[in-house]
Amino acid sequence: MRAATAALDDPPCCWLCLEEGPDESGKPLIRNCSCRGSSGFAHLSCIIDFAENKSRQAFERDKYNVEFYFRICPGCDQYYQDDVKFALAKAELEFVEREYKNNHLLYIDALKERMITLDFKDDHDRPELEIICSKILSIIEEVDNDPLLQYNGLTRAMAMAQRGMGSFRYQLENLKEAKKHFEQAKHLYEAAGDTVVAMGMDRKILMIEAKLSGNKPEVDKAAKVIYWRKLYNECVKKNGENHLFSIDAGILLATVLGKAYHTIEAERHLKNLVQISRRVLGIEHKLTKKALAKLQEIKVREVYVSSEKDWFQALRYESDGEKIVVQGPLPDRPLPERLNERNLDEEKILTVASNDIVPTEGTPVVVKNLQCSQYPSILVPAFMRLKRASYLNGKIGDIRAYSEDDKIFEIHFEEEGFKPTKVKLENVSILFGLPEQKLKRKAWSLPKTILALSALIFIHQKMSHSGMRTQIMLPTHTSPSVTENE
Ligand SMILES: [Zn+2]
Ligand SMILES: [Zn+2]
Repeated sequence: MRAATAALDDPPCCWLCLEEGPDESGKPLIRNCSCRGSSGFAHLSCIIDFAENKSRQAFERDKYNVEFYFRICPGCDQYYQDDVKFALAKAELEFVEREYKNNHLLYIDALKERMITLDFKDDHDRPELEIICSKILSIIEEVDNDPLLQYNGLTRAMAMAQRGMGSFRYQLENLKEAKKHFEQAKHLYEAAGDTVVAMGMDRKILMIEAKLSGNKPEVDKAAKVIYWRKLYNECVKKNGENHLFSIDAGILLATVLGKAYHTIEAERHLKNLVQISRRVLGIEHKLTKKALAKLQEIKVREVYVSSEKDWFQALRYESDGEKIVVQGPLPDRPLPERLNERNLDEEKILTVASNDIVPTEGTPVVVKNLQCSQYPSILVPAFMRLKRASYLNGKIGDIRAYSEDDKIFEIHFEEEGFKPTKVKLENVSILFGLPEQKLKRKAWSLPKTILALSALIFIHQKMSHSGMRTQIMLPTHTSPSVTENE
């Protein structure tokens, strides 16, 4: 009893030097691994001393494994996280630079480890990143023919360094140099089997070529969507849909989808991500919050109110869709600042006629009241046009384009097998909430039916032969979908 109470009351101490409280330089005890209870606390300086000693021993023994003790907690065998990981990557690099600089494998590996704890977008990190990238590249130049450098992990480190150098040159508007680095990065990523990232390098190269030739670089939204879908799927395949990386990549995919006016897909995707992130990471996690903020942003239906000559958020229809309630006006800024900088107290709520508003591109809509083709064509007989147009009523889709001159919207439908269609304002209603997604009903295919039937017959025969009584009924007719398919 006393021992247990004592253990609970024990203040945490460093498991290496056994001291409580801060170390000699005043730095507090830390822990950022999977250790629980009072175990796993240590002074950063003690962990570094321990890792250096163990690393020297490991190097004497097998010339490798030097990095191990800087990255994995010996108490719980898990990788250190966040701030501890950040500090230890720095310590590891300093140690390897001091004692094993001539071992190119170790050196590049330590440089790579430090590189992945830094952020290319962070102004504080960038100078250090630039030094690391140039160090990696100069080692590669120095030991061009070292067969050890063909090792896959190092190919990726080299690719990352080239990519980093490309980004730095690009920021300095040194486009030709940037292009060279991105081309190198592309080849290296391909060699490392990272085809999707290699594709991303291709996009950067094309953008630079456009800039160099004096053209305005065209942001190809469709290509971006394809790229990010692939990247996300690759990530899910590798790590599973619940992994932090997959959730992060999923949010980026949704952002790209939203910008390309694939709002319905983006919204469904974000709903799913919010659920996963809540369950796996918790409500307070920054990714859960990010996914939720994106979901709220994408659910805002922006409309132009002609009588007010301004942009508003549409809230709901009234009077059987004759009227619409709007709130605004929205700040005169591009998205997403437009939504972030709203001052809700100063906005007004109006009810206007539904034909007084124009929904913006990317608005989810449902098609209604189509009776015949919007574009009578002498080539298509009237009865066919009638059939063609009316079956789209009730279908949902995104507005992907709007032509101001003839006030025509181009709708891309969610359901597969429907071509994009052009309709007028009176033929669309804004969709405020998405309906549940219809699951694709898979028709039984003939081969599957035959397979199932023969399996049943086989079991039936087996059981009769072995003298067992059988309750298995052979189907007397096949499902209608089979005959349809035939
Ligand atoms: Zn200590
Ligand atoms: Zn631990």
